[in-house]
Amino acid sequence: MTNKYNSLLKTLKKTEYSLDKSIVNNHCVDWRGNYRGSSEIIFFPKSLTSIQKIVKFCFKKNIPIVPQGGNTGLVGGSVPRFNKGEIIINLCKLNNIREIDIVSNTITVESGCILQNVNDRLEPHNLQMPISLGSKGSCQIGGNIATNAGGLNVIKFGSIRNNILGIEAILPNGEFYDDLKTVKKNNTGFDIKQLLIGSEGTLGIITAATFQIHKKTNDRVVIIICLKSFNHVLNIYQKFISSFGEFITAFELMNEFSMNLAQKLIGSMKLPFTGNYYCLVELTNFIDIENFSNFIYSKFEKLQIDNMQLIVAKSENENKNFWQIREEIPLAEKLLENVIQHDVSLPLNNIENFIFESSKALKKFNPNISIINFGHLGDNNLHFNVCIDDKLNKKNYSNFKKKVNEIIFSFVNKFNGSISAEHGIGQLRKDELKRYKSAEEIKRMKKIKKIFDPKNIMNPGKVI
Ligand SMILES: Cc1cc2nc3c(=O)[nH]c(=O)nc-3n(C[C@H](O)[C@H](O)[C@H](O)COP(=O)(O)OP(=O)(O)OC[C@H]3O[C@@H](n4cnc5c(N)ncnc54)[C@H](O)[C@@H]3O)c2cc1C
Repeated sequence: MTNKYNSLLKTLKKTEYSLDKSIVNNHCVDWRGNYRGSSEIIFFPKSLTSIQKIVKFCFKKNIPIVPQGGNTGLVGGSVPRFNKGEIIINLCKLNNIREIDIVSNTITVESGCILQNVNDRLEPHNLQMPISLGSKGSCQIGGNIATNAGGLNVIKFGSIRNNILGIEAILPNGEFYDDLKTVKKNNTGFDIKQLLIGSEGTLGIITAATFQIHKKTNDRVVIIICLKSFNHVLNIYQKFISSFGEFITAFELMNEFSMNLAQKLIGSMKLPFTGNYYCLVELTNFIDIENFSNFIYSKFEKLQIDNMQLIVAKSENENKNFWQIREEIPLAEKLLENVIQHDVSLPLNNIENFIFESSKALKKFNPNISIINFGHLGDNNLHFNVCIDDKLNKKNYSNFKKKVNEIIFSFVNKFNGSISAEHGIGQLRKDELKRYKSAEEIKRMKKIKKIFDPKNIMNPGKVI
């Protein structure tokens, strides 16, 4: 087998690849363990030159490539398929921070940097990256860009798309794409980098990017609010936006079932009240108001909100504990069998009807269904996940899943939402993409793919 790659391997350092089955296999399974593929070899290139050599070699020999970052993706995009002759290029060793510019507030980082490590480097400058995810300790910048990751702070800083000034990449034929600009204004025709953002490894390998970075302060107040109905949630959301808009750095939603699940399976902290919905709101003191929590309290008094119980963290320790409740929900969910995940977005005004109608249809289909509903409400983003107590065999589960997906996505479509808010398409949502995106749009996407990747070697079988 080595013969196939010998001429390439001779040009790389020994630490830039592995043929060791256990190492390769570890990189062939996704975070949730839902997608398990196979590969003969994994590359860990340390430089642009090495990536270029590997990609040119693959282009010449028609070998399909799977770009891989931290492998925390949730749609099966980062792992090879089974027996398709795909190789993996993992970017973890391309991990330099090239420049931090504290005048322009920009950072240029290589794609293999772990998000948390970049934030650690920015901390002494009181600066931070625009995004924050539960997977921040493992996910890489290249993966974040390739998935246009959302996360907790989109409500404040916008998405990855809004915060990237420049990108560098290696295209599927091995050509170098250099648009590593650091300027905010750049109206020079089509914006190719925006195509690479969210392309899930199908258009090229992102090697570096320049980001807009933002002021960081640890002076924050986290609040958990308990509410009876979704109608009250929207009322609170609207009042918070109008009273605290500039301070809001996260506005998260959790339903009662998801909170109970985390308490039962992980032992998450219990709150002194119960209700149907909980919101976690983080307010951050960006403008150095003295005694920020007092300032927030004084504003609360004027809000005049009924039907709300709330608890305000009194220390940074409590802030962290409150966040932990939210972050433990996906971890608890991972311990369950048979959870069907949906990462959807909906216009705020339609969310209540979506929850009501789709829950009713799901319960009618099977009364033993429960819904783990949480997400980034401030970004219209719900994780609307379905679990069932019944023991189902493989075939029944597959039919069950198909029907559940059909119900949920038909209501997402009815209420003008998106079938994938932040996780992307990967292998998981390919069929739904075909169903819910117009044929014309799919045709255009395919044409763009062909321009970048005429031989279809870059992450084939993903997205389109
Ligand atoms: C606990 C947990 C919480 C999460 N929370 C969030 C959240 O709040 N918001 C959110 O958006 N996502 C979330 N995710 C999903 C995931 O962390 C993000 O999609 C993340 O951006 C993926 O980064 P990664 O480095 O792990 O990429 P991978 O999983 O390795 O790859 C993801 C995709 O990007 C491609 N890719 C990776 N690196 C490159 C590169 N350098 N060039 C080209 N293509 C590349 C891969 O081929 C694949 O298609 C969460 C995941 C977990 C496990």
